[in-house]
Amino acid sequence: MSDLKNNLEKAQRYLQRFKDKGVQNFVSGESRPALDGTTFESSSPVDMAPLADVALGKAADIDLAARSSREAFTEWSQVDATERKKILHRIADGIVDRAEEIAFTECLDTGQALRFMSKAALRGAENFRFFADKAAEARDGKSLFCPGQMNVTCRVPIGPVGIITPWNTPFMLSTWKIAPALAAGCTVVHKPAEFSPLTASLLVEIAHEAGLPPGVWNTINGLGEDAGKALTEHPDIKAIGFVGESRTGSMIMRQAADTLKRFHFELGGKNPVVVFADADLERAADAAVFMIYSLNGERCTSSSRLLVEASIYEEFTAAVAARAKRIKVGHPLDPDTVVGPLIHPEHFDKVMSYMDVARQEGATIAAGGGRPEGLTRGCYVEPTLFTNASNDMRISQEEIFGPVLTAIPFADEVEALKLANDVNYGLAGYLWTADVTRAMRFSQSMEAGMVWVNSENTRHLPAPFGGMKASGIGRDGGDWSFDFYMETRNIAFATTNHKVPKLGG
Ligand code: NAD
Repeated sequence: MSDLKNNLEKAQRYLQRFKDKGVQNFVSGESRPALDGTTFESSSPVDMAPLADVALGKAADIDLAARSSREAFTEWSQVDATERKKILHRIADGIVDRAEEIAFTECLDTGQALRFMSKAALRGAENFRFFADKAAEARDGKSLFCPGQMNVTCRVPIGPVGIITPWNTPFMLSTWKIAPALAAGCTVVHKPAEFSPLTASLLVEIAHEAGLPPGVWNTINGLGEDAGKALTEHPDIKAIGFVGESRTGSMIMRQAADTLKRFHFELGGKNPVVVFADADLERAADAAVFMIYSLNGERCTSSSRLLVEASIYEEFTAAVAARAKRIKVGHPLDPDTVVGPLIHPEHFDKVMSYMDVARQEGATIAAGGGRPEGLTRGCYVEPTLFTNASNDMRISQEEIFGPVLTAIPFADEVEALKLANDVNYGLAGYLWTADVTRAMRFSQSMEAGMVWVNSENTRHLPAPFGGMKASGIGRDGGDWSFDFYMETRNIAFATTNHKVPKLGG
């Protein structure tokens, strides 16, 4: 039996529970339908076949979940860190035990290829282990002395928090946002993306089987403008961790203004990969190709603008085009597939519209540019490379969020930096050069929250993650996550019987 056929059979077994029971909300330790009983259909971008009826939560469901999180907060915030650590490790164990089920479900729900999703499931477990081990230090602070006074800081969990996640790699991103919140002692209301809601229901189920008390983690499915909006407006929710589009971030900021919430925003990107002629060009081409065509290009840190020194532009873009043409597009459960179908027909149309934009703007389509031959159904797009582009074109400025790369030549370092920074976004930057001094100089001037030098995006979990400009506000990763989910309190002790001002005495 072929691997694909075998995988499809397994996937059908894993998906049967969703066909039978749909995707429910999860409140106070129990699965439940939306309060008004309504549902929406989730379908697979592979063939648009329905996967599940999903609870269509609204403001009333969010209110129920937020009240549940508020009640659970009193106890959970006081649970000893060693106990929180144990529970978080058990959640990680549960993820590892069900890694295949999670990966297969994610592939069919999102269209992402199995070769990446099996790693994403395990990375989800790693996120829980990492923050489990940090739970004990979440409350730590500093002592600051001055004459007559000792200041001691401590951190306390901020309260119930709302987590709103996107559809591109929903399982991994949910673990990345929720694990530190729980480790800090916060309770959570999670609103997963409506395009890919399946694995969020597996995740909250695993957490409760691992012994997480009822109400500590509630999940409400629904639409952004409805359930998502209600979450951002709810007075019991003290902070919003949001991953999604920049314009949704702006909306959330407005919606949450009346309740004065704290935000962490991880938004869109149009990230430059800058290749100088002195770089190891083979490795640079591999990394550029990996960062734009892995995860279907539906990746916030994708290297979607390729800036190449003019002297090697033709040679380098030809090497990238050759690789792009060899990439296998196909069913996400085929182990050989690199690029699967994009998440949804609406997104497919958006990505395909940029093929026309590129032609109208006068760029050359050096690879791809359409639907792959033979894949007539599903949201499949060829790995695409636009060359002869300039930085002011829409294909160079707008986040396409698909397997589509725009290559622009530059004359020298000054121009390279200008082009790299001449964009609204500022999430990630990639730099390829053998000149150490230039690498230090250039990387410090790139307007990006994260810069990788002579590397693709590889994550070190204690390092900060986040963007500047339209790519986000705030950082998470390591201790930065605790800073977001916790309030810092300063307690000042008098160390002498100093003179207290006497008024009216
Ligand atoms: P999106 O902004 O459309 O939706 C994200 C989430 O927000 C969904 O759960 C949605 O239901 C919800 N939402 C929508 N409107 C809302 C509202 N008014 N109030 C509250 N919630 C609302 O994003 P998407 O299309 O799902 O995801 C793709 C985007 O996410 C891309 O721009 C990508 O760059 C970005 N992203 C960023 C990072 C990062 O770390 N910076 C990571 C992954 C994805």
